[in-house]
Amino acid sequence: MVTVLLDPGHGGTDGGAGTAPYLEKTRNLELALKVRDYLLSTFTVNVIMSRTTDKTVSLDARTNLANQQHVDYFLSIHHNSGAPSARGYEDFTYINVNDTSTSDRIRAAIHTEVVNRILNKYGLPNRGKKKANFHVLRESTMASTLLEIGFVSNTSDQHLIANPAFYNDMAVAIGEGVGKGLSLVRKKSTPTLSPSPSTPSKTFYRVQVGAYKERANALAMQTRLKSAGFPTILSYSNDIYRVQIGAYGNKDNATAMERRLRSAGFPVFVYQV
Ligand SMILES: [Zn+2]
Repeated sequence: MVTVLLDPGHGGTDGGAGTAPYLEKTRNLELALKVRDYLLSTFTVNVIMSRTTDKTVSLDARTNLANQQHVDYFLSIHHNSGAPSARGYEDFTYINVNDTSTSDRIRAAIHTEVVNRILNKYGLPNRGKKKANFHVLRESTMASTLLEIGFVSNTSDQHLIANPAFYNDMAVAIGEGVGKGLSLVRKKSTPTLSPSPSTPSKTFYRVQVGAYKERANALAMQTRLKSAGFPTILSYSNDIYRVQIGAYGNKDNATAMERRLRSAGFPVFVYQV
């Protein structure tokens, strides 16, 4: 099976750019977990994370993990920082790979999905496809890409970063791009994660805390949630155990629960069903 390593940039003592609530390490992890959940629920694929919590991981540890596990694709997720007026999305492949490389081919698939699903909808500028000599691109032995989602230093981008629908759509765009770029096999039935045109009367917002291949891991998350005062439902489909808090007909209620869970330290993902 194809294996993807998702690398949420920074973590632990390395906060990356910005300050709370736009601290880069936190935002990178939040989005990367959504991408993981989308990939696992949509495609037949293995996903390895370089971190799933706020811990310090060196650049060497990230690329060593990918190289030792012989993953097929390394995807690093970051947010940008710069002059107050600088904003927008951009993605990078290694400076020494050419346009016909696997890295550039997969990156092009992600880029296209982001352009089609995100940029116009949210008014996010496209800074283009770029090359760089970043450690994670240089030292990983497989195809690799680094995404810079938006600028934590720009007020317009901050508004997007704070909008859960933006991250959900971005997770779908990245996930679809990875799926197409790697020709991943799509599962038979997939949840509708994109808040695309929907029928208002039948829309529910499902609050999901985790998606696991191993039942024991799902049960452990249920136990953690229970002791934190959150009742959960365990569902199983497409070989994935999902720990869910519930489904809400009212989006504000789902968003409120999402905030409560996040502030209690849980990874959380809200999607429409
Ligand atoms: Zn960064």
